[in-house]
Amino acid sequence: MKDFTVSILGNGSAVPTAFQNPSSQLVKYKGLRFLVDCGEGTQMQFIKYGFSYRNLSHIFISHMHGDHYLGLAGLVSTFHLFRREAPLHIYGPSPLESILQQQFQISETHLQFELIFHPLKGDQQLYEDDYLQILSFPLKHSVPTWGFRFQEKSDTDRRLKKEFVEEFKPKIEQMRKIKQGADYITPGGNVLKNKEITADGHPPRSFAYCSDTIYDESIVAHIKGVDLLYHEATFGNATEEKAKDKMHATAAQAANIAKMADVKRLLLGHFSARFSKNLKHLLVEAQDIFPRSMISEQGKTYEL
Ligand SMILES: [Zn+2]
Repeated sequence: MKDFTVSILGNGSAVPTAFQNPSSQLVKYKGLRFLVDCGEGTQMQFIKYGFSYRNLSHIFISHMHGDHYLGLAGLVSTFHLFRREAPLHIYGPSPLESILQQQFQISETHLQFELIFHPLKGDQQLYEDDYLQILSFPLKHSVPTWGFRFQEKSDTDRRLKKEFVEEFKPKIEQMRKIKQGADYITPGGNVLKNKEITADGHPPRSFAYCSDTIYDESIVAHIKGVDLLYHEATFGNATEEKAKDKMHATAAQAANIAKMADVKRLLLGHFSARFSKNLKHLLVEAQDIFPRSMISEQGKTYEL
């Protein structure tokens, strides 16, 4: 559905190419925006693809390799130039806080909005509102790294039956209450029970982000059953040894994790520069194990 989407801003790895930007994704949920990783050039990707910063107040940085955070100071500086007033929450490895502080201190940038830094540790709940939870969990990489899970809560609103809306044309405020379980009193004074005029809401949706990581079955428990899994696929079958050496994963390994976790769809990303012009074989290797694998595309928005 359109109220929960993931847009790919960058799906490359550390070496830049003309075809791939470093890691960044924009997650949209019911009018709120969340940024996951912010590699160099992320701002330019916002401009290129026409994405908005509106209601973007939470940024999650997976680890301290440059291809995942070097765009962050620039983005925060732009918020400053835009005279942002809303607080900005940044979640990342603890050293990120002092890097940002130094950056703004040396450039004598006095942010006029509150920047609230949350250090990542172990697995925790990072964010919660009435509908959504965001959780972090550790990944295995050459530096401390975290994955993230965006989990819709199960108590989603009930859905109004079309016949009821057409017949009684309830006001917006009434519809809101009915979605939350209220009965409806007709203009003639009859009580229509909530069960008669609504249907169950959709099952809770979820998205997980796992980049960067070596093949690691211990993450399966954290991503179990998600609707969409973004998993790094830096290498292919022919370079499996290299993947292990560099603490990255292959497309086939990502597919194996997706299969074990029983996810609905797998989105491959964080591609090595060596494959930038031809990713087809990565897709074939992944689909061999998990048919619902896809190659992530920059600028594309995936609905949950
Ligand atoms: Zn990376």
